[in-house]
Amino acid sequence: MTNYVVGHKIPDSDSIVGAIAFAYLKNAIGEPVIAARLGDPSPETQFILDKFGFEAPLYKTSYAGDGVYIVDHSDIELAPDDIDQATLLGIIDHHKLGDLTSSTPLECWIRPVGCTNTVIKMMYDFHHIDIPKNIAGMMLCAIMSDTVIFKSPTCTTADIKCVEALAEIANIDDPKGLGMEMFLVKSAVAGTPIRDLVKRDFKDFNMNGNKVGIGQLEVVDLSVFDDIKADLAADLVALKAEGGRHSVLLLLTDIMKEGSELLLVSDDDSLTEKAWDIKAVAGKAWLDGVLSRKKQIVPQLQAVFA
Ligand code: MN
Ligand code: MN
Repeated sequence: MTNYVVGHKIPDSDSIVGAIAFAYLKNAIGEPVIAARLGDPSPETQFILDKFGFEAPLYKTSYAGDGVYIVDHSDIELAPDDIDQATLLGIIDHHKLGDLTSSTPLECWIRPVGCTNTVIKMMYDFHHIDIPKNIAGMMLCAIMSDTVIFKSPTCTTADIKCVEALAEIANIDDPKGLGMEMFLVKSAVAGTPIRDLVKRDFKDFNMNGNKVGIGQLEVVDLSVFDDIKADLAADLVALKAEGGRHSVLLLLTDIMKEGSELLLVSDDDSLTEKAWDIKAVAGKAWLDGVLSRKKQIVPQLQAVFA
């Protein structure tokens, strides 16, 4: 049996860097594990890989007969399609507990922190393994990304302390400056096909039998969407029909104004009122202070569908 570590579908920086950092740790303690991914790196992730001189992990979608560690989620919907034919060896995550289960004992490191890489740093400390400089730099970037440069309500003191320690190892003087550089890369949306933007950071959730797709684009200034907002909204309609979804939401998050413009199509016209007590006008609503899909969008929707 070959063992792999893989993050969620449509991987973000946490999933890609988490797989690399976790595989290095496991190999360092004598357990061969191969880092893998379920999709292409985003421009932000590619920026991180290039900056620290790493290749993207192995692209691999089928895991039947393999051993698998899952990082950055615990949901069947976000896992490899044939995960039920693999042996689940462990889960390293920072989200709500999902519906993955196992037939054999497994290793679980799940903490309510802002980033999987913060949990992986705890694992390095537990095993007394030094983090290589370039891996530390990538882990720092993943934390800056997931916590939106510490602004997200998901950010904890553990994440901030972890970034301080990683900055020391990686010799990074200005982690917040590096975070801003990353979000500027993320904000360059001009010229990208509409569907690619909608699906850049997109997750399907099973909410009490209803398929709900939620995408998020985090930028430093929402004006980058002015010319394409109507096209984005039109594509949500198409995506809803294609996937047999109950609802499709796209969060356009302004990390400086610290809020999100929500674009949505739904079978339920009063979805935003039920979830956030805000009326959507023409499929749009401004959600002030909302930066986190995990903490400020998914639980509220789940309550509506419960
Ligand atoms: Mn993620
Ligand atoms: Mn994450």
